[in-house]
Amino acid sequence: MATINTNTGLPKTGAPRYHFDIYAVVEGAQELYFGHETQVNVNIVETVRIAIDEGEVEKCYISPTKRRGVERRSLIWAPVQDEGVLLGDKLGCGVPHTCAQPDCPICAVYGALITSKATVEVMGQEEERAERTFIGRLVHGGGVAIQLQNVEEKQRAMHPSMMNKDPGEDPTPTPFKRQYNEPGLLYPIYNHCLSITEDEFSAVAYSFLDALARLGAGNPKGVKIYEGELLKGHEPLLVVDRYLVPLGKRPVVSPSEMRVDAALEQFRSDALTVKGTQVDTEEITEELFTRWIGDAALAYLQDRAATFAKQHLASKEDE
Ligand SMILES: [Zn+2]
Repeated sequence: MATINTNTGLPKTGAPRYHFDIYAVVEGAQELYFGHETQVNVNIVETVRIAIDEGEVEKCYISPTKRRGVERRSLIWAPVQDEGVLLGDKLGCGVPHTCAQPDCPICAVYGALITSKATVEVMGQEEERAERTFIGRLVHGGGVAIQLQNVEEKQRAMHPSMMNKDPGEDPTPTPFKRQYNEPGLLYPIYNHCLSITEDEFSAVAYSFLDALARLGAGNPKGVKIYEGELLKGHEPLLVVDRYLVPLGKRPVVSPSEMRVDAALEQFRSDALTVKGTQVDTEEITEELFTRWIGDAALAYLQDRAATFAKQHLASKEDE
């Protein structure tokens, strides 16, 4: 009888593995467009329908899959100092061709798929790559706006470039309508990592922070971590957990909540509850569980992001 293989396929690392969670509330500082589909010259934003006691409401949405795409690209497009190239070009790792190489910090957490054997050019060299699947160990959630607000439709015009037109033709602008999520909407968002090392998490921290300014399609773009009351009164609504056992309440806001004050209180109350007890420090360490809150959570993510930049982007000459 053949031996049955029950291995997950994950290589053994010298460093310990943990689960990591990021919980945040972000705010759109301006209109935001994330396309859903085009209907008769109107670019529609993606919304979701939420069942409430009184029937159904439609809410604006930053879909987790779109956020994941922006985050992954922020790693692919990160600048590598020594070679003067982008990280994706250095690794031969992009979208849709993910590299699925064991040492790729992007594929290690975001996952990868090569459906058939391929020859890929990487920094001027040809490289053979076999069929391979990496299961992503980073998943994204949330994104449903708290406030109930109708999307706004605006008139835009695409001005044709004469280089692509017959010189005799009229340079007529092509009008189209585009919807936008209104500014000031608050979106609770969540990233969860399964069994990764602190070094692997550094890529997640870098892409989470770097992608915030780049969320959206077209222009304008970007969100900011919303600041409100957790422990001190004016701090980022952000929680990071690193654990083997999930001892904290998960600060996940109910999508059916439409009142900002109630939603933020829900986030705050959950953020400050560990093992059923109200906590009063920014860093909580229990056996097999650590939680960072507010400014401490931001500092922890920034520290991990800096580690990523030092390992993969910064000039080696500085070391
Ligand atoms: Zn890769």
